[in-house]
Amino acid sequence: MVTSNDVRGWLDRPIPLLLRVLPRVGWGRTSVFAGLVIFQGLLPIAFIVATGTLVGAVPEVAVNGFGSRAGHRFLAALVTLAALYTAQQVLGPVRQALENLLGSRLNIVMRERIMTAATEPPGIAHLEDPDVSDEFELARGVGQQRRLDPRVVWALGQILSSRIQGAIAVLILAGFQWWAPLPLIIAHSVNYVWHDRQAATLVRRRELSTASLRRARYFRDLALGPGAAKEIRVFGLAPWVLGRFGSEWLRGMSEIWAQRQRSRWWMASAIGSLAASYGIVFLALGIAGARGDVGLMALTIFAQAAINTEALSYLGEPERILSFSASPILHALRLEHRIHRGEAELPGTRSAGALPQEGIRFDNVHFRYPKASQEVLDGLDLFIPAGHSLAIVGENGAGKTTLVKLLCRLYDPTSGSITIDGIDMREFAPDSWRSRLGVVFQDFVRYELPARENVGFGRLELLGDEEALTKAARSVSAWDLVSHLLRGWDTPLSRAYRNGADLSGGQWQKIALARALLAAQGGAGVLVLDEPTANLDVRAEAELFDRILELTRDVTTILISHRFSSVRRADRIAVLSGGRIVEEGTHDELLAAGGLYARMFGLQATPFREVEGG
Ligand code: ADP
Repeated sequence: MVTSNDVRGWLDRPIPLLLRVLPRVGWGRTSVFAGLVIFQGLLPIAFIVATGTLVGAVPEVAVNGFGSRAGHRFLAALVTLAALYTAQQVLGPVRQALENLLGSRLNIVMRERIMTAATEPPGIAHLEDPDVSDEFELARGVGQQRRLDPRVVWALGQILSSRIQGAIAVLILAGFQWWAPLPLIIAHSVNYVWHDRQAATLVRRRELSTASLRRARYFRDLALGPGAAKEIRVFGLAPWVLGRFGSEWLRGMSEIWAQRQRSRWWMASAIGSLAASYGIVFLALGIAGARGDVGLMALTIFAQAAINTEALSYLGEPERILSFSASPILHALRLEHRIHRGEAELPGTRSAGALPQEGIRFDNVHFRYPKASQEVLDGLDLFIPAGHSLAIVGENGAGKTTLVKLLCRLYDPTSGSITIDGIDMREFAPDSWRSRLGVVFQDFVRYELPARENVGFGRLELLGDEEALTKAARSVSAWDLVSHLLRGWDTPLSRAYRNGADLSGGQWQKIALARALLAAQGGAGVLVLDEPTANLDVRAEAELFDRILELTRDVTTILISHRFSSVRRADRIAVLSGGRIVEEGTHDELLAAGGLYARMFGLQATPFREVEGG
């Protein structure tokens, strides 16, 4: 697990960051990689010394021949150069293969960590938090330049080898004059800082403008994707969507462009200082050579060392890859930290066993969404007896779905309690309690997967049990649909796949209902249906409910619907308004009471009565 110290300060710099995450990809391979990086950092320096020796020996060899000591030196240098060259040729491809492998594995490891961070917490508050969704976007490296480039390990290797090479070149040059490396170090540092700042600012700017760029991407996807294609055409939204895409994208990018303009004069000073420092060092070398203070061999070595100090400077492509790739890694670590910190939101270890046997009680429950200003539930009291059905009605936005989310323990109440047979729900392990539930959410998922998974996800253990799947499908009139699919249970429910089926809204609802019914078959004791049949006609919905209630006689069923023809079939009805249950009773009791339920019922029933009455 990542601690807060892990993601702050100098450790956030690309190189330390990568050195921190790379061993997690594999210690063995990372060690070999490190060895090769060091070796290849030393290699150019060995070339310099060997070349210097070779060149330095030439005048003497010309006079005394290869049999002399200088001749032996010359030959030894020649053999060394050949050996170094061979080593370079052999190890280069090995290192490249290793870098590719480590780069790809790092990518996979980071993606897995991001997915784990998203799915691990038992609640969903983290996914509905805009800050976290920004962080997700950054961690996923959305946008071409900030993605985690598989070449990142190559880039790291290049940079580290270069720094080793540069540091040794500095030491060699200091052998000529102690001050000689200084102007070069300063010039390369200025150059480095300028480039690095430019790259870092670019990354930061992109991140700051994420909100604009994210909206821009949303509009782009709206325009390109099939999801909104119908509405965009019918409502004539295309020009508006394209206009918004343009303006959001421009807003996101304008700051980045402004930054680029500002850094031009920096570039001029970096180049100026490089020219001046090389001028000074080579002038000094020239004078020393002319005076005979430094021999030919030393002069060759010093001159090459001076040129090699360039390895301390900004390296271009590898540096860019590293800083852009470090950004998603850093955000992935931050994300893990942020999400792990919130993990304790849903504690509890107790097993839910076969509860509820008595019932579920909401006791003075208050609930406010994280970062929201208003409470959705404001002192809600409700008892749902086990083995009975309860319908919840209320206007849009009254909080019915929120109540379902609390019941599924996707959130905990802000205050008050929900108890199952008198035991606070917070004491149960979220997974254990959820295994007691079969739920159809209003916005249930239409998985682009075969019908088998779409129903089987209700109870994974029954995924391979075709008999159970068929029984669940039959119980919600979905069997007719499944049996007519081209490949039966194995038909993908998406046109995007070969032989895939395109279902209507009502057909999808039946699939989702079958999913929840499968959970009930698998032992779930509480069935929650949140507007599960809004796409079916009134009669079909009413029939389906009768059927479901009949089949799930022992199951505690909670039904949310706008249709009173369905609602009235429930044992009891609760009316939610102003964050509380304001009325409760059977259909007849509530009508007789003449309150909110009776008024809502009257509004819905009037047109029917008028039609019926001619
Ligand atoms: P209903 O199901 O009765 O139509 P909901 O439970 O969906 O009502 O919503 C109740 C209120 O909570 C609404 O005002 C809605 O805007 C708000 N709300 C729902 N989900 C969230 C959320 N994730 N974050 C903040 N507010 C939310």
